[in-house]
Amino acid sequence: MSKAEGWCMAKVLDGTAIAAAIKAEVKAEVDRLAPQGIRPGLAAVLVGQVPASEIYVRSKVKTCEALGLFSQLITPPETITTEEMLVLIGQLNAREDIDGILIQLPLPPHVNAKLLLEAVSPDKDVDGFHPMNVGRLQTGQAALAPCTAAGIIEILKRSHLPIAGKNAVVVGRSDIVGKPTAIMLLAENATVTVCHSKTRDLATFTQRADILVVAIGKPALVTENMVKPGATILDAGINRVTDRAEFERYFAGDARREESFLQKGSTIVGDVLPKAYALAGAYTPVPGGVGPLTIAMLMANTVRAARLRRGLPV
Ligand code: NAP
Repeated sequence: MSKAEGWCMAKVLDGTAIAAAIKAEVKAEVDRLAPQGIRPGLAAVLVGQVPASEIYVRSKVKTCEALGLFSQLITPPETITTEEMLVLIGQLNAREDIDGILIQLPLPPHVNAKLLLEAVSPDKDVDGFHPMNVGRLQTGQAALAPCTAAGIIEILKRSHLPIAGKNAVVVGRSDIVGKPTAIMLLAENATVTVCHSKTRDLATFTQRADILVVAIGKPALVTENMVKPGATILDAGINRVTDRAEFERYFAGDARREESFLQKGSTIVGDVLPKAYALAGAYTPVPGGVGPLTIAMLMANTVRAARLRRGLPV
């Protein structure tokens, strides 16, 4: 355990282990569907060459292979037009062997991303971005929920951390993480507050949180004085640190982290200052907390989509 983690008695919510359990369940489900002639399939569309996106998409495809799902990586050139993308999505919507369609973001600026995401059939929208799924989620109907938000809820449930009646504060209101997480916490009967960049005196809200979800993309913005002792912290932030002085600010005294920083020339910090974890009752580390859940939930969503599309119970 690193010094930063070793200071505290807080429980580490091991996202890697939880994701592994979910993936094992997905694999078992894929095996159960096989005798019925069903092999859930994911199409991943990666436009152009964005190195970070390539890494993400390839690891999604690799995970499909490991769990027995069918997968296809489609890599149109950077120059593809919105119209050509619409044709491609139409073809994927019509394909019987494809249950989930993933359009990797960001798309090139000349492409109308919103239009494309809405063109994906809601039944194959395994990212949960289509307005139909957003509406279904909000109204408590069977939906495909955005993967990171669904992962956050899975971490809480599988760690047996109660949600009902708790004060949950979600910092960040993106369509991908903050908003769906807030909606899902509300559905679990938490009392939910959503904060954002225009929130005045953020600390007064975060200090009241029994469950604090932070998804803002600002390194270590949430500090010790902003956390209620004993709170559960779910830190979705993924921020790369390359500057030595910045590293010292976040990780001073963490020998293991320093070794890896010196080796790789960078490390990842969440949106919460690692020292603030010490006050928590439980927290997700970065890396190895919320991050691994996203791919696991994408796999689970693909199997869910395969079942829903065939009228099988989920
Ligand atoms: P985003 O779309 O940029 O949204 C950021 C949100 O944070 C916005 O709602 C913004 O408020 C709010 N915000 C920004 N500065 C703030 C401040 N100083 N105080 C309070 N709120 C502030 O980001 P995102 O896509 O939700 O991602 C958030 C973080 O999660 C990023 O680090 C991202 O890399 C990470 N992430 C991780 C995963 C994963 O673990 N697999 C998946 C997705 C994202 P406004 O709405 O007012 O602008």
